[in-house]
Amino acid sequence: MNYLSTRGDSSPRGFCDILLEGLAPDGGLYLPTHYPQVDDATLSRWRGLPYAHLAFEILSLYIDDIPPADLKRLCEQTYTEAVFGTPQITPLKRLDDGLYLQALSNGPTLAFKDMAMQLLGNLFEYELARRGAHLNILGATSGDTGSAAEYAMRGKHGIHVFMLSPRGRMSPFQQAQMFSLQDKNIHNIAVEGVFDDCQDIVKAVSNDLDFKRRYAIGTVNSINWARLLAQVVYYFAGYFQATKNNGERVSFAVPSGNFGNICAGHVARSMGLPIQQLVLATNENDVLDEFFRTGAYRVRGAKETIETSSPSMDISKASNFERFVFDLLGRDGALTAELFGTKVTREGGFALGPAEIAPAASRFGFVSGRSTHADRLATIRRTWQEHGVMIDTHTADGLKVALEHREAGVPMLVLETALPVKFAATIEEALGRKPETPAALAGLEALPRRFTVMPPDVDAVKRVIQAQAAGAERRAAAKPAPIPLGDRQRYPAGEGPT
Ligand SMILES: *Cc1c(COP(=O)(O)O)cnc(C)c1O
Repeated sequence: MNYLSTRGDSSPRGFCDILLEGLAPDGGLYLPTHYPQVDDATLSRWRGLPYAHLAFEILSLYIDDIPPADLKRLCEQTYTEAVFGTPQITPLKRLDDGLYLQALSNGPTLAFKDMAMQLLGNLFEYELARRGAHLNILGATSGDTGSAAEYAMRGKHGIHVFMLSPRGRMSPFQQAQMFSLQDKNIHNIAVEGVFDDCQDIVKAVSNDLDFKRRYAIGTVNSINWARLLAQVVYYFAGYFQATKNNGERVSFAVPSGNFGNICAGHVARSMGLPIQQLVLATNENDVLDEFFRTGAYRVRGAKETIETSSPSMDISKASNFERFVFDLLGRDGALTAELFGTKVTREGGFALGPAEIAPAASRFGFVSGRSTHADRLATIRRTWQEHGVMIDTHTADGLKVALEHREAGVPMLVLETALPVKFAATIEEALGRKPETPAALAGLEALPRRFTVMPPDVDAVKRVIQAQAAGAERRAAAKPAPIPLGDRQRYPAGEGPT
């Protein structure tokens, strides 16, 4: 399988060529040259597979530059009951006849980003060892992404993580989650500023190409193809749990921000998984709902981007959206480049006509809706009263919009993207009671913290990376023999070295 750019560059690249990269050189996003088709016999063969084996089968269709035995081992290491809490990994919870939650948030950080990030950690470590290379991951976070990345990369050989967060602005639970990590390869940097200051520092460091090359700076942001591919698997896993035979269809409702999660659903559907509708749910930041209703893609400014009680969906533009538009426009790279490279940059967006937008629903199955703070409170309350199930604010957005699009005879699977304990304040506002903390995380907030406070200063952050690299060089000189891959102790995520 080769990969091409949504903006037209089709020089052949394999999976491992793009694994450690962000954008394609022409500014586009990577996609496979085609979506492998899954026939009835294949679906039947996959139906009974454990999650890790299903992941291996699906990944194998897109990855031909990792030996199958190694890829299988990586999948088996990643998707374990020890890390994800149940043998099904993403079990369905029945709410009603034909209405389910699919639990994606039982990983180490209690949000669905673990589903992909845990695999990415193992893939990165494997590929870096193969190349004899190392990587310094630099990122900015306001919550979910940073903690998922740190829990995926902790204790991994050849990888250091430098994660910038706005000091004092993450939820207490999220701060405790990140700052309590004692692993030597995890570096928490609390910046005295807001999220945009953190983001600006990451951009400035990444734009210093000499520094970037010298210190092997990389990222784990949501445009990474491997993350998206890992997410394709749970659409199949959900389908198999909700159906008895391959003649049945199901719909998925997806709380959406950067369009990564639902884009994986689009890939699964394009492979032939019998998905009826992909129901896209936004919060008040409704740039994507607006597109699916009107064909207008209008990027919001910072002032227009609202802080909501489902904060992981507070986006101004959707970084993975270009992938879907490329498919929608018949994979026309020149046109995609004009829309995203030129129009979005110069005019802040673009508008497609009725004929261009129509296939989004008719051919690709997309419908959409939005949900507000009042909707979230009402949905959380109703789900608790009627079903005895506590849901988080993002899942509530998904469920609210799902109910607007239910069809008789088609099971609706709402993707549960986080656990309520992460957003306890809104749960209390809705229910007058606190969500339960999973046993594994009790006492988290009392653990010692490890982080460095820093002014919003690019050079200060560069010095932290340089100091770490200098220390590593000294240690390497003192201890020249590298540890062979097979002899190294592997830590299950969540139980790394302290
Ligand atoms: C990241 C996130 C989302 C949005 O997912 P996208 O892939 O960006 O669309 C929704 N809910 C939660 C809890 C998240 O962390």
